[in-house]
Amino acid sequence: MVYKRTIQLYIFEREGGHCYHCGKLLKPGKMTLDHYYPRSLGGTEEYYNLVASCKLCNKFKKSVVPKDWVEVNIELLLRAIADEKVVFDQSLKHEKEFIVSLLPNVRTIEHSKSGTKFEGRGFRVLIKDNRVVKLVRYGEV
Ligand SMILES: [Zn+2]
Repeated sequence: MVYKRTIQLYIFEREGGHCYHCGKLLKPGKMTLDHYYPRSLGGTEEYYNLVASCKLCNKFKKSVVPKDWVEVNIELLLRAIADEKVVFDQSLKHEKEFIVSLLPNVRTIEHSKSGTKFEGRGFRVLIKDNRVVKLVRYGEV
């Protein structure tokens, strides 16, 4: 369980205190968390799907699905792994570098209650509660 305050602090710092959408400098107390892939469509509450947003942008965006959401989820996931905010299940620790090398090749992402599936040609990575829990490989990667 990660406390909301911890999540907010990390994301505020990651964004350098700016709104992810409009770039406006935010006062610490005025930040809202925006689910980049909308929560109303099942977007998860993971580090890679949350961005800092000013109230206006968050209100305006609502359930709009940004065109670049897959790229942004991947970019923020790689950042969260580098920052050790997304960790690897004990059984996958020795495959960490390999999995990180696969992530830029992800083509589709599926958010659901049982976790987020990052899928590319020949592989699927499952992440749940900011933890990489499963790697499935089928055929040549
Ligand atoms: Zn904004």
